[in-house]
Amino acid sequence: MKVIQTIEKVYPHLPIFAQNWICSAYGRKEAAVRFGRVFKERLRQLQDSDFWSASEIEAYQNEELQRIVAHAYKHVPYYHDLMRQRKLSPSDIRSREDLAKLPILSKEDVRENHSRLISDSAKRRELVARHTSGTTGKSLHFYITREAIAFQWAVWWRHRTRFDILPGASHFTFTGKLVVPPQQKHPPFWRWNRPMSQALINMQQILPDKIPAIVDFLNEHDFEFYSGYPSIIGSFCALGNELGLRLDRPPKVLFSGAENILADQRREIEKFTGTFIADQYGFSEACGNAAQCKEFVYHEDFEFGIIENIGLRDEESGEETGRIVCTGFANYAFPLIRYDNGDVATWAGKNTNCACGRRSRVIKQIDGRIDDYVVTPEGHRIMRFDYLFKDTSQIKECQIVQNKLGSIVIRVVKRPGYSLKDERFVREMVSEWISASLGVSFEYVDEIEREPNGKFKAVKSNL
Ligand SMILES: [Zn+2]
Repeated sequence: MKVIQTIEKVYPHLPIFAQNWICSAYGRKEAAVRFGRVFKERLRQLQDSDFWSASEIEAYQNEELQRIVAHAYKHVPYYHDLMRQRKLSPSDIRSREDLAKLPILSKEDVRENHSRLISDSAKRRELVARHTSGTTGKSLHFYITREAIAFQWAVWWRHRTRFDILPGASHFTFTGKLVVPPQQKHPPFWRWNRPMSQALINMQQILPDKIPAIVDFLNEHDFEFYSGYPSIIGSFCALGNELGLRLDRPPKVLFSGAENILADQRREIEKFTGTFIADQYGFSEACGNAAQCKEFVYHEDFEFGIIENIGLRDEESGEETGRIVCTGFANYAFPLIRYDNGDVATWAGKNTNCACGRRSRVIKQIDGRIDDYVVTPEGHRIMRFDYLFKDTSQIKECQIVQNKLGSIVIRVVKRPGYSLKDERFVREMVSEWISASLGVSFEYVDEIEREPNGKFKAVKSNL
């Protein structure tokens, strides 16, 4: 740990070749954990099961669920006691429906019972300590096995193979990590992780005067795909469009994760790259995952865990918005059963069969963090506003902030052509689509600050 801290401190002051060397050394170390024998086996299995029938999926999930519950009862003190108290035995939990017999596991439960959630059969040397950075400032500590890490990477790479991208493909990543120090005045504004065929750039480098050099670099290399936070890729593409630049070697596809893709980001990205962006929804607790298919809906990665929908409300369309609650099949060292990760999603109506042919459960959209919604005077909770702004190209970026009940502040980074007409338009859209009695004020800013973990929040509640 101390070594890592020291490297982080000196890294920004090292010459570029040394920074590249460190990025590659880190990449080599990570690749050994992520892409070994388990990864290859899992990826093959995942590709075989991708188009299983609904009954095959159900049988598989029941079997995996029974296996993890039996293990947790036998080896994990927290679950053993919990089930005993409720007079439950492992044979009572045989299917997704039976999960309702167990309580939901909150982040606070994990914090309070950390040591009792570790399996007594886990070998210490197999455990990797992890924590989530948590936007609210409270981090969550847990353990994961190397096998579970490889399984999770296989799930993520299965997603990529759906778009004909194979492991080892060269790619360019837009990251929140500080790989290039902000004080870098001249190119290269990127660094190399050679073992993973990856070049990286961080958000601090996405500035108007640096974009031409970055585009030149991309035009000189064959990157098969781009990946990263949609907010960073979106800013890059928006600037590329603004400057009238062109990608001569566009990627086949872009993969995003870690944040919701907003409508205007998607528009800028598609315009600049001429290709599409496919999102995957994962999180470091590694107990559930969902990834978009070519129809741009999310499919539950059923092999990795069960994602339950704990409904908040039913809508007329049959769609249901609810909390994401996950039971993981991969991590036997620190099992998470019915874990509420704090996100909310909207499920398509029952019996929705996706046109792509996959029969795994369909999630229409991931809405965001449960903490980040606006409450209208009518009591409705609104988590997404981006569709309101998708036709207003004079807004570069915006964030909805609620500081008190009854009103919102819309923080806007303007484009040159922005006028009062745009402000009026946004007011009308809010009044028409969200609430006519919600007070709206505007705040004009040069940039919208990112959260401490580098993520962009489109909706922020300070209530
Ligand atoms: Zn599909």
